[in-house]
Amino acid sequence: MPTYEYRCEKCGEQFSRMESISQHGRKRPACPKCKSVKITQMLSSFYAKTAKKT
Ligand SMILES: [Zn+2]
Repeated sequence: MPTYEYRCEKCGEQFSRMESISQHGRKRPACPKCKSVKITQMLSSFYAKTAKKT
């Protein structure tokens, strides 16, 4: 089962979830920290490439 990386647009929390292909895209996970559904999915390579210090 693939793991998807997400980042919350609201509080900046980063989290990963294991989802099956069929499960993925059907329902959007909520941020474990603030429960916001305003999240962005990150690909691992994308994440590594764009990791920047703020
Ligand atoms: Zn959040």
